[in-house]
Amino acid sequence: MTQGHDRPAATGPRELALRVNPIACEAHGVCIGLLPELIAADPWGYPIIRPGPVPLRLLSLARRAVTDCPTLALRLAEQPASPPRPDRRRARPER
Ligand code: SF4
Repeated sequence: MTQGHDRPAATGPRELALRVNPIACEAHGVCIGLLPELIAADPWGYPIIRPGPVPLRLLSLARRAVTDCPTLALRLAEQPASPPRPDRRRARPER
């Protein structure tokens, strides 16, 4: 069995985020209609994607938005997992 030293050092948990190719997008709005929780329209109808990873509960809708995009402008991209939020209780100086 292969041990961890064979993996790239930067490999860790991955998250999926939506990305749009602004050249390919033709503002059809399919993705906006499918996933308003994560995608809004700008004044010209082009998608504005909320930054950050796709929440697990919205992943199937995000996949559908990707496959239903008529110009294949939308994709799900892997990104390194966000670092955990600091524990605020520990951030306070001790007395
Ligand atoms: S469905 Fe595709 S072409 Fe239409 S707005 Fe979304 S990314 Fe652009």
